[in-house]
Amino acid sequence: MLNQTIKGLMAIALLTPLSVLAANETPTETPKTPKNIIYLIGDGMGPAYTTAYRYYKDNPNTEEVETTVFDRLLVGMARTAPARVSGYVTDSAAAATALSTGVKTYNGAIGVDTDKRPIETLLEKAKKDDKAIGITVTSQVNHATPASFLSHNESRKNYEQIAKDYLDSGADVIMGGGQRYFDKNLLAQFKKKGYQVLENFDKLNDVHSGKVLGLFADVQLPWVIDNPNAHQLSKMTQKSLELLSQHNNGFVLLIEGSIIDWAGHANDIATTMGEMDEFARTLEVVETYIRKHPDTLMVATADHDTGGLTVGANNKKSWNPGVLHKIKASPMTIAKQLISQKQWKTGFAKLIGFEPKDNEWKALTKAHSQDEQHFAMAIIDLVNKRSNTGWTTDDHTAVDVQVFAKGPASQLFVGSQDNTEIADTLSSLL
Ligand SMILES: [Zn+2]
Repeated sequence: MLNQTIKGLMAIALLTPLSVLAANETPTETPKTPKNIIYLIGDGMGPAYTTAYRYYKDNPNTEEVETTVFDRLLVGMARTAPARVSGYVTDSAAAATALSTGVKTYNGAIGVDTDKRPIETLLEKAKKDDKAIGITVTSQVNHATPASFLSHNESRKNYEQIAKDYLDSGADVIMGGGQRYFDKNLLAQFKKKGYQVLENFDKLNDVHSGKVLGLFADVQLPWVIDNPNAHQLSKMTQKSLELLSQHNNGFVLLIEGSIIDWAGHANDIATTMGEMDEFARTLEVVETYIRKHPDTLMVATADHDTGGLTVGANNKKSWNPGVLHKIKASPMTIAKQLISQKQWKTGFAKLIGFEPKDNEWKALTKAHSQDEQHFAMAIIDLVNKRSNTGWTTDDHTAVDVQVFAKGPASQLFVGSQDNTEIADTLSSLL
């Protein structure tokens, strides 16, 4: 009984944000400096994404709606606007530069300020402090977000230059997709520098020490919804932690659920929830790691919102994620598989998980007769209508994003903050 009361009090203390404590109640223990920092970014993961994910994961047979890892770790919000010259809506490059350097810049900038001068990133600073550093992502490894932590370029589009820059980044772990940007010559140079270069995902199991450049796809890793048992991001994260943990001075690891954003650009709720599921699983891997290594701080956020996702649309009080659980592949993959088939309807009903109504078949048939792109868009539209999901744009929005944290100094991220302040605070902890 007493034990339970103490537990309850402790829970209340843990749940009380700093902002509601009076000045004389400031905790006596100042936050300790973490030895390791794990920084997670859900690209495009605006607040509606974690809300949708909660109801997507809900067990409809229980009285309560179950909460998620996002609910458990939430501490604050972040503003995402880029430098004035780019208005209020950021792109991933400017946002990642803000999150890695603490400096606002123009959309498209990779680790440079508005005058195109390079700015030291969090990972570069960590390297100087003799910490191990790494990036683990689901897009190509030289895409805007990871690039803004490991390189400097006036444009996110200079993929080849950015890939070459990685050679001198000193990164101990680089994992994701992007084989097409690393030619034989460049890979040979990585090997010369002591990197184990991997292109086969299963080979990751055989690596237990040293530096790794893992490029597991031509560009992006496969959609989670198309490979539900692959768990690539959480497995890469586990391996990155295993490798980086071996360094005595600690490490800083950047992890990105990169293509949550790409599914959002496509306004594709089924594929979005698949990517969210693997990102949530990755957060849980990190959460477990922190439980065993209390000297490690995790901070997670999004670089911006994508798509203006609405959980319940079309003037109706309803959202029906049940339909999303039945879909066997991403709409883009279904379209690719069926576009050249004359008898596509039976296969379609199997892959989508339900029998469309007459008017739905009509729209699908028209799109199927056009081309793959129109067919994919018609499937996405069908799923949005069936689930009553809304979207306002196929680009980014300026809405604030959430901040999640756990571990030493996690209180510093409570409340409203600018994305640049997240970088400044993390930098001050190094
Ligand atoms: Zn985007």
